[in-house]
Amino acid sequence: ESFVYWMRMEDLRIEDNTALHKASEKAQDFGIPLIVLFVISPGDYKIHDRSNKKIDFILRNLRDLKTKFHELNIPIHIASYDRRLQIPRRVITEILPSLGAKHLFVNIEYEVDELRRDIATVKLGRESGIDVRCLHDRLVVPPGKIKSQQGKPMSVFSPWQRAWAKLLDQQPHYLNMSPSPKANDKSIKSNDKFNKLFEEDIPDHVEGFECPESEKLKEVWPEGTDKAKELLDRFLHTKPRQTQFQFTSPLNTGAEESQKESRVAQYQTGRNLVDGDNSSRLSPYLAAGVISARMVLNEAKKLKGGKLESGRDTGVGMWVQEVSWRDFYNHVMATWPRVSMGRPFLEKFADVQWETNEEHLQAWKDGRTGYPIVDAAMRACKARGWMENRVRMVSASFLVKSLMLDWRLGEKYFMESFIDGDLAANNGGWQWTASTGTDPQPFFRIFNTLTQSEKCDPTGAYIRYWVPELKNLKGKAVHDPFHQMPKNEFKKLGYPEPIVDHKKSRERALFRYKNVGEKE
Ligand code: FAD
Repeated sequence: ESFVYWMRMEDLRIEDNTALHKASEKAQDFGIPLIVLFVISPGDYKIHDRSNKKIDFILRNLRDLKTKFHELNIPIHIASYDRRLQIPRRVITEILPSLGAKHLFVNIEYEVDELRRDIATVKLGRESGIDVRCLHDRLVVPPGKIKSQQGKPMSVFSPWQRAWAKLLDQQPHYLNMSPSPKANDKSIKSNDKFNKLFEEDIPDHVEGFECPESEKLKEVWPEGTDKAKELLDRFLHTKPRQTQFQFTSPLNTGAEESQKESRVAQYQTGRNLVDGDNSSRLSPYLAAGVISARMVLNEAKKLKGGKLESGRDTGVGMWVQEVSWRDFYNHVMATWPRVSMGRPFLEKFADVQWETNEEHLQAWKDGRTGYPIVDAAMRACKARGWMENRVRMVSASFLVKSLMLDWRLGEKYFMESFIDGDLAANNGGWQWTASTGTDPQPFFRIFNTLTQSEKCDPTGAYIRYWVPELKNLKGKAVHDPFHQMPKNEFKKLGYPEPIVDHKKSRERALFRYKNVGEKE
């Protein structure tokens, strides 16, 4: 007999893992072993636009976890099924019986397909005499807990955020962390069936998701909860180093410390500057659950004198607010499931008239739009699978409002490219940008790409790093070489001319949004 914890690609950690802890607790009570199951499904990854960088990050973390589980005499069984809809049946009627398990523990994932999978698993479990426990773990406050005074779900971030922080201060148990699992008795290894599981290898790639950049990414995004904790500590407690981190290890401690305050202390301004290394860089770890949001908030809370409820007046206050966006967008997705089915939150914007221009879409993806800040961000995305928040907004806004291309094309491309790809956050970010989301800002918020560029990359270092054609340019020319340089000088750069005119495209976007549903 055994108890099984089915680990998902969003709970890749041992510490503070609710389902793992509950499974371990029960297994100890009954005196029978705990087994960890992980299901790889290329078919599922394909349909959900997973990036090869994310799959590689997951496999690297699984290898790290395997070592740690083995230290606790807990085997990890890897199953692989291409056909994702078959997974519940395979798990309930084949894998669990083969492990002699009558109890399955999982952490809930709130995306529609994942919820359907879990409902199917619970139903099949009932038919087969298997008890399936689905637990809340991903968020600090489970979806549905925070409601308006009239008992309705809230869709506007600011009041929701205040209620979230207040709840956490009044009911701090939400931040309690689950104890790590206890070790299995070492006699598990004398059982042939279980002993074989200890010999299973974690594959080094998933077919169709091979990642040639794996070694480089390992340096930039090292795997494991210990590394995530180091990143958290670097962000909250240490002074920034004198390095210009763009595509090197963030944990490189060789460089000189600057005289500045810690990153979090400067976060209010730093978070919008991409020519430095100012944010936590924890998103791949939070998205894959390598570190929990409770773990990071408990540390932030210490810096806030034990209270989370407060405004934007301090760097750490602002950061806590940013972390709460993660809960918020998951709450939106769980409450209005249409957002994870390709629908706008505001249905009235379902019929905006989009352009269909393959060349423009490709130029955006390749970082060849002639707008240096967009091109730098898109090239950074391709190379390291990650962008700073400000340039995610700038490049997303450029696709939607300047090129007038459907935001869902951008949403898909980001998911296919990011190491931190996460449906709720990515969809929330795109719908915010496309003015189709929960944000009360009207549709006429249209970023001026060049002004944004000067503000977020004031030294131009970000553009010069990612767009080598412009590496020798200074001043305004680095932000807008086409208009700031003599034509013959510009031609020598080998850099594209702007593919759209900002002013004209702004007018087009305003017209299309205003006349939604009508043809020009
Ligand atoms: P920090 O500034 O240090 O913030 C700490 C953590 O808070 C982040 O790691 C993240 O978990 C959370 N967070 C911060 N801002 C947001 C936000 N706006 N929405 C949700 N969570 C947030 N984030 C993802 O994790 N995955 C995505 O796929 C993703 N796609 C995005 C797409 C667009 C168009 C936009 C505008 C934003 C997107 N974000 C996404 C949110 C945000 O840009 C990243 O979380 C952030 O840049 C990651 O850097 P960091 O870890 O250094 O963040």
